[in-house]
Amino acid sequence: MITKNSNYQEILNSNIFSKILRTQAEEIFYEKSNVLVLAPHPDDEVIGCGGSIELLKKKESSIQMIYLSNGIPNKGTDVGSRVLQRKQEAIQLNQNKNYNKPIFFDLETRKIEFNYTKKINELKKIISQIQPNLIFVPFVIDRVNDHHFTNKLLYQVLKDMIYESCFIYSYQISNFIKLNSYVDITNVFSVKVEMMKFYQSVLEKTNYIHLFKGLNLYNNFFVKNRNSKDEKYFEIFLKQSVKDYLEICKIIF
Ligand SMILES: [Zn+2]
Repeated sequence: MITKNSNYQEILNSNIFSKILRTQAEEIFYEKSNVLVLAPHPDDEVIGCGGSIELLKKKESSIQMIYLSNGIPNKGTDVGSRVLQRKQEAIQLNQNKNYNKPIFFDLETRKIEFNYTKKINELKKIISQIQPNLIFVPFVIDRVNDHHFTNKLLYQVLKDMIYESCFIYSYQISNFIKLNSYVDITNVFSVKVEMMKFYQSVLEKTNYIHLFKGLNLYNNFFVKNRNSKDEKYFEIFLKQSVKDYLEICKIIF
């Protein structure tokens, strides 16, 4: 959700978005990279960009996950044990895939909006240390508040750093995005499904495998020269320079 002061028309009319809308989407081919993934909740990273991360890992990239919250709202029974379970699932996924040790910011789920500023310095430090050349983050106008405000944290961090040697990849979770690039994940789609199976506590409630299968198939619409007879899977992104990303965030936040 966008804050009440935001003006969608202003955002959509901005030079950057009109530039993106005119640009035809291009397929991304990854190379060995230093990758930082910001996941508001453990499972967003799989749903939004799990296939792309797998392709990057195959190129021997270094993958660093940061989970902003544990994904468990502080209500109902057994909150403590459900938090532990969800974190354990994330840790096991990261270990199994040989990613770097995941970082948990432990911000309160569904309240990132109110406490993200606590993590500005920590995220600055991490970015300075690992020097990512790719940063994955949910699309800035994602309708889920925690996803939206994860961008506000990244914005606050990057606007004060002189760090421009990377691309920001906005990934798709719970709504459509303005995209300019896509990745064919067909060959690793079954791996993405296996990655999601680490989150059994999530799958017990919602079959996200079913959902992202549909989404990744639907994304054929945005692909150049597609052959609609093939069953192909795509993840889509808005790929931006830090400068362009900051310009959009400045309008939105
Ligand atoms: Zn999420």
